[in-house]
Amino acid sequence: MLQAKLTENETFVLEEVKIPEPNEHQVLLKVELCGICGSDLHTYHGKHPFVFPPLVMGHEFSGVIAKLGKGTEDKFQAGQRVAVEPSIVCGTCYNCRNGRYNICNELSVVGCLTDGAYTEYIAVSSEKIIVLHDELSFEDGAMLEPLSVGVHAVEQGHVKEGDKILVIGAGTIGLLLAQAAKAAGAEVAITDVIAYRLDLAKELGIPCTINSKTEVLEERLQQFSPEGVDVIFECVGSSYTIRKAIEIARKGIRIVILGVVDSEVLLPVSLIQDRELELVGDLMFTRKDFVKAQELILSGKVNVRSLQTKTYPLRQVKEAFEYILNNKDSALKVFLDPKQA
Ligand SMILES: [Zn+2]
Ligand SMILES: [Zn+2]
Repeated sequence: MLQAKLTENETFVLEEVKIPEPNEHQVLLKVELCGICGSDLHTYHGKHPFVFPPLVMGHEFSGVIAKLGKGTEDKFQAGQRVAVEPSIVCGTCYNCRNGRYNICNELSVVGCLTDGAYTEYIAVSSEKIIVLHDELSFEDGAMLEPLSVGVHAVEQGHVKEGDKILVIGAGTIGLLLAQAAKAAGAEVAITDVIAYRLDLAKELGIPCTINSKTEVLEERLQQFSPEGVDVIFECVGSSYTIRKAIEIARKGIRIVILGVVDSEVLLPVSLIQDRELELVGDLMFTRKDFVKAQELILSGKVNVRSLQTKTYPLRQVKEAFEYILNNKDSALKVFLDPKQA
């Protein structure tokens, strides 16, 4: 089978390797589609703080069960259409025992710390599989992972019905999070510097879109919510936007940091102290977020299809990355398809 391995920064090698055998409690999937995540771009450039080549990336994928490992025959059947939670956890550490396995002490992630789905076949733990509803396409299935990130963030932000929230960054995660927050009853403002993405946010039903390149963010926010917003979500990961979030926050609110920060950032900690701000980290999701993500797509409360930009054959992985890098404004979710020659 074909797999695309990042062997060093900005270098993919296409390799022919043996199809893996599923171990006990694993199933073998024929990969249908795999999304390219923003974090894969960080890894590609050697700028991810925790993920490095050599690696087969790919953690947002859907597929069909091709073979059942021992102990999975009673739960699954060959041919079932599925998506996969990419986390690999110990199950015994403090957070695993307390329902927060997304921050397991031994956390590993398929496609980040072990080889992932930029490949034709992958063996995964049967416990991490979610069977796709008939109405969901493989594209939808591959979008469950990033949408689950947004669903989990809404919970990390303690978003309540009627809250007014600000999402900084209208990339894939920002747009999915904004919709998940809206589905939870929040009124959402979203800001970015790219008009294309803000136009899309409008189409997706986000009422307040702010282009902070051409508009004064503080003024627009003042109109949106005169007493300030209740929660801020930072989905960019730059020192500028994190600092901005702190500066514009109403006293006493939560700021949830989702963006991958690729260098150390100097922050006005005195403001965090003085204004009783809560800066909260956010990583991945757990099963319930994944289940919820599927429900949100099915109910039509979250539109993932408008975020799907383009699909490349797996063999053209390099072109796919170049396309994203050359079309930073309009490229949202780009998929790799291992079935295409
Ligand atoms: Zn991702
Ligand atoms: Zn654990």
